[in-house]
Amino acid sequence: MKKLNKTRRLFFKLFGITIFSYLLIPYKFLYSATKKIINKNLTEEQKKILFNEGTERPFTSSLLNEKREGYYHCANCDAKLFSSKSKFDSGTGWPSFTEALPGAFKTKTDYSFGMKRIEYHCSNCGAHHGHVFEDGPSETGKRFCNNGLCLIFKPSN
Ligand SMILES: [Zn+2]
Repeated sequence: MKKLNKTRRLFFKLFGITIFSYLLIPYKFLYSATKKIINKNLTEEQKKILFNEGTERPFTSSLLNEKREGYYHCANCDAKLFSSKSKFDSGTGWPSFTEALPGAFKTKTDYSFGMKRIEYHCSNCGAHHGHVFEDGPSETGKRFCNNGLCLIFKPSN
């Protein structure tokens, strides 16, 4: 009887490990399939935001005071995301935009930190960029709150 229990325990242990690894494999596979690191020169801080839904500290982005004309591109895949025409100073400490270029992002509801927020990802590479709120100053009513580290600004001239 005792021996049987031991065998059974071992069986469940092995069974558990097997189930666990089967659950992990598709997760890792899906994760890498939807979020591809394209830019090999990304810093650890950029990867944390782009691929682990991180947020940079407010008022740290060099893009906050960027006022030149041009376009903001994805730091990972270089897709064009925002025009400088939609940029405004929201006072939040993150680069903010009233609208994104058509089809630039896909959105997802994020329930972390006990808040319901709309998170957006680059349509092209799946990287996380920020959250969009409904309190924007223009007729779009939108405020795209974007991590500066996820963007690369390319001036028109
Ligand atoms: Zn991208």
